[in-house]
Amino acid sequence: MTDVPPTDDPIPELRRAPSLVLVNTGDGKGKSTAAMGVMIRAVARGWKVAVIQFLKSGDWATGEQKTAERLGVDWWAIGDGFTWDSDDLDESAAIAQEAWNKATDVISSGEYSLVILDEVTYPLIWGWVDLDEALAVIEARPDHVNLVLTGRDAPIQLVEVADTVTEMRNVKHAFEQGVRAKKGIDF
Ligand code: ATP
Ligand code: MG
Repeated sequence: MTDVPPTDDPIPELRRAPSLVLVNTGDGKGKSTAAMGVMIRAVARGWKVAVIQFLKSGDWATGEQKTAERLGVDWWAIGDGFTWDSDDLDESAAIAQEAWNKATDVISSGEYSLVILDEVTYPLIWGWVDLDEALAVIEARPDHVNLVLTGRDAPIQLVEVADTVTEMRNVKHAFEQGVRAKKGIDF
């Protein structure tokens, strides 16, 4: 350490990326809430933002959806109708594919500077959405379209195409002490 503040850019060869792909994965809490944090930053910069939710935890809108809509963020919860315990897997797969088609349109249109695909890893893992097709859409996106993808067990190929990947590690969670999900904290 010196007493003098640095005057030169310490890493002058750093480049500016036209856009980034972020993946928030792991079994700890914070994947979706961190994505919403990026949403807030993007709105502050005047970006158009879209959120597509691939799983929905009920009929009610989450707190983040309510806030997003107030901020002018476009939100699709196309998970409507397919759930963890859907007994009709063919139907669930078809709905997931429909959600992916929407995501493809939203990404490829170039209309949005930030697209958040919340809980997208699950349909990819379960084979409801073709991983190679998804990777192709991500890689062929217009230059300025930033992406945030969330969900546990991100496939390795997705990790490879991403720029920044964070694994939330569960240290402890209130749920394990028998505490139910809390409004304002969990949804
Ligand atoms: P959040 O939306 O709170 O950021 P997340 O996106 O990381 O959580 P998900 O796997 O999408 O986690 O689960 C969503 C819900 O499950 C939230 O209510 C969250 O608090 C809860 N949850 C997240 N991680 C755990 C965990 N390790 N054990 C139990 N419940 C969890
Ligand atoms: Mg989540």
